Amino acid sequence: MSAGTLPARVEIREVGPRDGFQNEPEVIATADKIRLIDQLMRTGLRRIEVTSFVRPDVLPQLADNTEVLAGIDPPAGVSRSVLIPNERGLDNALAVAELFDECGVFLSASETHNKRNVNRTIAESLEGLKAVIPRALEAGKKVEAVIATSFGCPYEGHVPQERVLELAVALRDAGATELGFGDTTGMANPLQVRGFFAAAREALGPEVEVTAHFHNTRGQGLANALAALEAGCTSFESSFGELGGCPVPKGATGNIASEDLISMLHEMGVDTGIDLGKLLDCSRAVAEVLGRPLGSHTLVAGPVDWHR
Ligand code: ZN
Repeated sequence: MSAGTLPARVEIREVGPRDGFQNEPEVIATADKIRLIDQLMRTGLRRIEVTSFVRPDVLPQLADNTEVLAGIDPPAGVSRSVLIPNERGLDNALAVAELFDECGVFLSASETHNKRNVNRTIAESLEGLKAVIPRALEAGKKVEAVIATSFGCPYEGHVPQERVLELAVALRDAGATELGFGDTTGMANPLQVRGFFAAAREALGPEVEVTAHFHNTRGQGLANALAALEAGCTSFESSFGELGGCPVPKGATGNIASEDLISMLHEMGVDTGIDLGKLLDCSRAVAEVLGRPLGSHTLVAGPVDWHR
């Protein structure tokens, strides 16, 4: 496929403050989170996943969800999303409904991963989401439904594409305005991804936004992003600094780095609206907070400079 067929513009949702911060062994100070999110919201990013309403005893890293939402200062046009695990999480989120714009909900396409992640069967999760999604919509929120392990499961191996798309259609029918497909433990390959997103577009129709969420567990995240892009996907999720992972199994590593994705897209002439230099400043700032080097390549090498 020639570069001429790539979309002119894509949307990127920064998920580091949720997917990233929840996977750090240390709890990051609330003031640091607020400072980093405020900085991210001033890079040109228009979508940011700020936090999650998972129970604090399950996820102490994000127990300060309400404080973070109340503390940040979003510029006009920046959409704040929160992750909602279940009905109880939605109740807690809607108590501060004025502090966010979008809800993310999720289930896994594999029974074993779903059971280990949220201790429910897929059918139970789907029933729960059919209650959560309409209430979130009624509260005026957009809803992204993410299907984890869409491209493979660390416990079950192959996950049939038809199974994933069946779930996606059910979630669309329940009212989800956006469907996200997660390669939770980095098992996807570009050939699989290209076929998958073409089929997803076809199955879901033009009304629903389709979003790709890749992890770089085996170094194939950017190749998968390009494959999704070539299949017409124009919405991506990524984490600054390559933060992130998955609670189960242990050792599942980060999302694709936002700065690596943005660098690749800009070099191919695909617009993101994001200032790469400012985004790199954010990754430098989070590396300082965490006190460790991060996985991002562009953070180490710097942006491509054609004018030397
Ligand atoms: Zn993720």
